[in-house]
Amino acid sequence: MKTVEDVFKKIHKAAKQEKVEVYVVGGYIRDILLGKKDTKDIDCMVVGSGINFARSFDVAVDKVGSLIEFPDFDTARYIIETPNIMIEFAGARAEAYDQKSRKPKVAEATLEQDLSRRDFTVNAMAASVEVFTKKVTLVALKKKLVDLFEGSKDLKNKLLRTPLDPDSTFSDDPLRMLRAIRFAGQLDFSITPEAMESIHRNRGRIKIISGERVQEELLKMLATKKPSVSLTLLYQTKLLDEILPEVSALKGVEEVFGHQHKDNLVHSFLVVDNIAEQSEDVWLRLTGLFHDIGKTGTKKFVPMIGWTFHGHEHLGKKLFYGIAKRLKFSRERTDYIAKLIRWHLQPISLMDDGITDSAVRRLIVTMGELIGDLLILGRGDITTGNPNKKERRLKNYDNLAKKIVEVMDKDKLRNFQSPLRGDEIMSLCGLKPGPTVGKIKSAIEEAILDGIIPNEYEASREYFGKIKDQYLKLALDWEKA
Ligand code: ATP
Ligand code: MG
Repeated sequence: MKTVEDVFKKIHKAAKQEKVEVYVVGGYIRDILLGKKDTKDIDCMVVGSGINFARSFDVAVDKVGSLIEFPDFDTARYIIETPNIMIEFAGARAEAYDQKSRKPKVAEATLEQDLSRRDFTVNAMAASVEVFTKKVTLVALKKKLVDLFEGSKDLKNKLLRTPLDPDSTFSDDPLRMLRAIRFAGQLDFSITPEAMESIHRNRGRIKIISGERVQEELLKMLATKKPSVSLTLLYQTKLLDEILPEVSALKGVEEVFGHQHKDNLVHSFLVVDNIAEQSEDVWLRLTGLFHDIGKTGTKKFVPMIGWTFHGHEHLGKKLFYGIAKRLKFSRERTDYIAKLIRWHLQPISLMDDGITDSAVRRLIVTMGELIGDLLILGRGDITTGNPNKKERRLKNYDNLAKKIVEVMDKDKLRNFQSPLRGDEIMSLCGLKPGPTVGKIKSAIEEAILDGIIPNEYEASREYFGKIKDQYLKLALDWEKA
């Protein structure tokens, strides 16, 4: 099998042999109608058993792909390397939900029943697999389209509408509320006013959705070209209050004696968009969303000075750990975001104090691999509407970046540690492993960072000769005490 048409031919042949109807449905159809040609996920609906059909198909193609079965949902996934596609075969089904879970009781159903349980009309269109056995044209597809809920009309109007009553759609499976908002951002569609109101009404239901699922949808929202579209919809429907109250709380402007601070929610959304223009990395974009969450709890009006948010980088980091736990971020991603939140003000304070070599050295050592991302975050953090101010600040970042490269080249600071290693310090002093060795090593590192000595072995050895006695004496005093 070379092309995707070859694959559809095989599916079609297997369907005839097994005497079942197989339809292509959902996202694949939607994307073709939208003129997208590179969709790699194909959803197939089998009027009969999805798993049984997938097994027959597997045999028909001499087991070229890998088959994974999900018996609970009568669904099977089939992954083929050439052409690179993933097919999901699902038995047509009707669903009955209970209040506590989004896992429905499922029953075999007709094509029509299956289409009506889908999330949005633009995702509820189907066409027989036969249509796809030749290079599919829009005309041919439209002629054979099964479109019970005016999905193609909604597609033309760029509208997300639920096939059935939105309240039952969203209450049955609250994940669909996040999907609506994600699709709106991804496809640049609007959500019908009825559906928007229904999401607002049903927002509390989102609590039955697992943290992992919420994380997945949130990341998909952040992966769009302009993430603030989805983020704003989350805010408007108040879903944001449910999934990220720490972010919601940033909303609002306070005024004291005519002094206002900026709306930190609006600011944070702008920062995310700014980062999205510089980086594809969704985790960095997410950091933009969270970087100021400590501002709500540290906000203070100080007469003569104005609004201050002292320590918001520390509080923000602490609050973020709560979010990370709820949304089940991995340890690694959590540490990444937490570190960037903690240090996001550092470039600015450096610029204010004058960019000295030793301050730059410290920043490089503190941030390690994350130094580049810290600068992207810092640049994104500039949301002033004043073009002069903006240009000035961006220039500051250019200068800092240049300085960082200079210092890195000069001082070879990657994976920085004392050129005089612990082992050597021990043998030179006749010391056993213990705190004194570490203290001597840090003293050498500090001297390098402060620019007292260069980052070189000879200089470190000489410096060591000068300071070692004071540390050894200290250690002896301790032992005696
Ligand atoms: P994409 O793959 O681009 O995210 P998609 O529409 O293909 O978009 P999938 O999650 O792959 O989305 O689901 C395939 C189809 O299954 C959808 O088009 C929709 O018809 C249906 N579907 C998926 N999730 C749900 C859900 N939670 N509720 C109702 N229908 C759903
Ligand atoms: Mg899909």
